[in-house]
Amino acid sequence: MLLNLHRFLPLTEAEGPGKRACLWVQGCPIRCEGCGVPWTWSKDGGKETSVDEMYEEIMKSYQVNGIEGVTFLGGEPFEQAAPLAELAKKLKRAGLSIMCFSGYPFETLKAANRKDWDDLISETDLLIDGPFVKSKLDLSRPWVGSSNQHYRFLTNRYSHLEYELHTLPNRLEIRLGQDGRIMVNGMAAPDTIKDLFLDIGKKQSGTPITSKKLRD
Ligand code: SF4
Repeated sequence: MLLNLHRFLPLTEAEGPGKRACLWVQGCPIRCEGCGVPWTWSKDGGKETSVDEMYEEIMKSYQVNGIEGVTFLGGEPFEQAAPLAELAKKLKRAGLSIMCFSGYPFETLKAANRKDWDDLISETDLLIDGPFVKSKLDLSRPWVGSSNQHYRFLTNRYSHLEYELHTLPNRLEIRLGQDGRIMVNGMAAPDTIKDLFLDIGKKQSGTPITSKKLRD
């Protein structure tokens, strides 16, 4: 089974609890106003990757970096629910946790009565659901961008966090690639990201800035 992958990060501490691998899928039909990653909307431009290949990459990070789980972001993960459910099932068997974002509200996902969506839900420990709503921008909670989005603790794995969310900060990670590309992931206000890149651009005149904010 194949995934249409936008980006894979073997280690991050900005996309969910603890150390995690993170997988952004390509393609999102929801198209929220103010979305931070509009370049993931199109189904074109992703990299076809098999579930087995992705599993091997993630397990390598588990061995090298000691990650505790994986986060699926988008794009829209539920548009690729069947391969993600299969991947999640293998990872859960290996003891890793699964966190998944969706722009679809949980009620919509459940009411659809789709096997692929139900399968992904049943493998997910922590689901963050709901579209980004620009008029409800709220960065006071970890990992999410607007106040309408919900944390669904679908298993006991992270249920202890339900009353500790206010103690967890939002984080932004910045990486400088060997080719000079600057890659950012995590959560911050759009203006903060813009100012950050303007500032970096001024300090690194001549360095191309070709990759910007990556966020569901
Ligand atoms: S915020 Fe997420 S759900 Fe909304 S358009 Fe962007 S990728 Fe899609």
